[in-house]
Amino acid sequence: MAEAQEPFWRGKTLGDLSAVEWEALCDGCGKCCLLKLEDADTGKIETTAVACKLLDIGTCRCSDYGRRKRRVPDCIPLTPENVPMIGWLPSTCAYRLVHEGRDLYWWHPLVSGDADSVHRAGMSVRHKVLSEKEAGGPSKLPNYVVDWNL
Ligand code: SF4
Ligand code: SF4
Repeated sequence: MAEAQEPFWRGKTLGDLSAVEWEALCDGCGKCCLLKLEDADTGKIETTAVACKLLDIGTCRCSDYGRRKRRVPDCIPLTPENVPMIGWLPSTCAYRLVHEGRDLYWWHPLVSGDADSVHRAGMSVRHKVLSEKEAGGPSKLPNYVVDWNL
């Protein structure tokens, strides 16, 4: 009998992934699209419950993914090279997990086979954040700092 094939994210480095695998790896949590504040003195980064203007709050997906960098210059598209360097990437982020040689969680759509499982498990930002468009501008951001264990 033929051996079952390992899921593509196991036993691979981020750099080994094909473009299709790379895109499929995103769990759609939307956590990385929350606006952050950096303390100029300490460098400490705080997360807010305010999402980038392009994040679709319902689906937790970027509404203009192909042009995200042009539309939002601060957006940082992930790459195999920068994932290890980005300290604020959520602990549950699939790219971080694969980089650390860990497996995906049960609620990851690739594991569950259900794109909604990340939301039902409460692991996405759905219904927890507001859009930058409604937050009242950059000066109001400190009001929305959250202490979430992302
Ligand atoms: S935190 Fe990681 S897994 Fe979640 S949406 Fe961002 S890139 Fe995708
Ligand atoms: S531009 Fe898109 S991918 Fe980038 S932070 Fe905003 S919503 Fe997220």
